[in-house]
Amino acid sequence: MTTPTRVVVVGASIGGLTAAETLRQEGFHGEIIVLGDEPRLPYTRPPLSKQILLGDWEPEQAAIRTAAELDGLDIQVRTGCTATALDLETRTVHTTDGPVPFDELIIATGTDPRPHPLLPWAPTLRTMEDALHLRDRVRASDRIAVIGTGILGSEIASAARAHDAETLLIGRSGMLGFGGVGTLLAPELARLHADNGVELALSADVTTAAPLASGGSDLTLGDGTTHRVDLAVAMIGGAPRTAWLTTSGLSVADGVACDSDGFAAPGVSAVGDVAAWADPETGRHVRVEHQSNAIEQAIAVATRLTHGASAAQPIPLFWSEIHHTRIHAYGWFAPERALVDMTHADGRGTVHGSRDADGRVHGVVGWNAAPRDFRTARAAVLASTPTLISQS
Ligand SMILES: Cc1cc2nc3c(=O)[nH]c(=O)nc-3n(C[C@H](O)[C@H](O)[C@H](O)COP(=O)(O)OP(=O)(O)OC[C@H]3O[C@@H](n4cnc5c(N)ncnc54)[C@H](O)[C@@H]3O)c2cc1C
Repeated sequence: MTTPTRVVVVGASIGGLTAAETLRQEGFHGEIIVLGDEPRLPYTRPPLSKQILLGDWEPEQAAIRTAAELDGLDIQVRTGCTATALDLETRTVHTTDGPVPFDELIIATGTDPRPHPLLPWAPTLRTMEDALHLRDRVRASDRIAVIGTGILGSEIASAARAHDAETLLIGRSGMLGFGGVGTLLAPELARLHADNGVELALSADVTTAAPLASGGSDLTLGDGTTHRVDLAVAMIGGAPRTAWLTTSGLSVADGVACDSDGFAAPGVSAVGDVAAWADPETGRHVRVEHQSNAIEQAIAVATRLTHGASAAQPIPLFWSEIHHTRIHAYGWFAPERALVDMTHADGRGTVHGSRDADGRVHGVVGWNAAPRDFRTARAAVLASTPTLISQS
């Protein structure tokens, strides 16, 4: 294997920076340049919808590394620099600051929130700037509508209630989702919101919307109800940030299509929310929008670049905190594999497993579970053994 002398990473967030740091830790001595279009040094996004929105943290507390730490690692992070095109023939990333040649490229450009087609004025949440703006708006609002029934919709509804706002959570699928767990937790999540005073309109899409001079919105839902709110927030999912790659020749139908080692083309890899790695068993391209996936894919790619060895596919791990309830999920879930109770008699909280007809555990969910209990349950996924199920 020829060792690259310059690795360029596009996307200065958890995926991109983890790849850069792992390259150094694994002994890569060449040049590492990380390009990021945001004005800040890299930070993590999970606190945006939790500690930042609640007002418990200041932005610095979400930072991943200080400028001094990045200098110490000899990693150049160029903030405010947007990649505009990729030329695979000349191995160059074109940017708003000029061309940047590379030997190896790692793409980690994440996703962009989708604006609501009927409420283009409704704020969404992806960046620190979005979170600070939303925090101020939530504080100033007595009545808030959140449109979107995924994890982020639930977290924002939870933060709105913590600020004492009357809160309406709107969705059209009839069910609340939880990332890769799908709707297997829908009844528990609906109960959790109802117990905390969130009004639910889960089978009633927005049919008309009008902005108010005050910044609020008048909404009509499919069930005929009308709602005047001080703030409507749209959290209806994200789209991979691949517009800069459209002329590159890479396959970017839903994210950057990669093989099961993260290769999108010779010398080009992709990690994190923007990357659609092939499942080694089915060959299907799958994108996972969770932080631990971005970290594990970044580690796998950086390790492969330095040592040439392929790493195992990461197992999805994700979490949330909604109305002070900690929910963790690990593994793979499917609607036909219902959750079964795996809680230990002396455990704290509950642990549920998703098992197949042969009793193999494919995924586990901890609901306020003690870390030790959740760790034990995770081992069941790794071992894919039916024995823990029989203890329930
Ligand atoms: C509010 C919020 C809360 C979340 N909470 C959780 C949680 O509790 N648990 C969990 O597991 N996951 C959570 N996630 C998801 C998690 O944050 C993502 O999975 C993770 O950030 C993905 O990392 P990434 O590096 O792939 O992409 P991103 O973090 O999206 O970073 C991509 C970076 O690339 C930059 N970029 C894009 N295009 C260009 C370009 N052309 N040129 C230069 N730079 C570019 C972007 O501006 C961005 O800085 C949350 C996400 C959000 C938005």
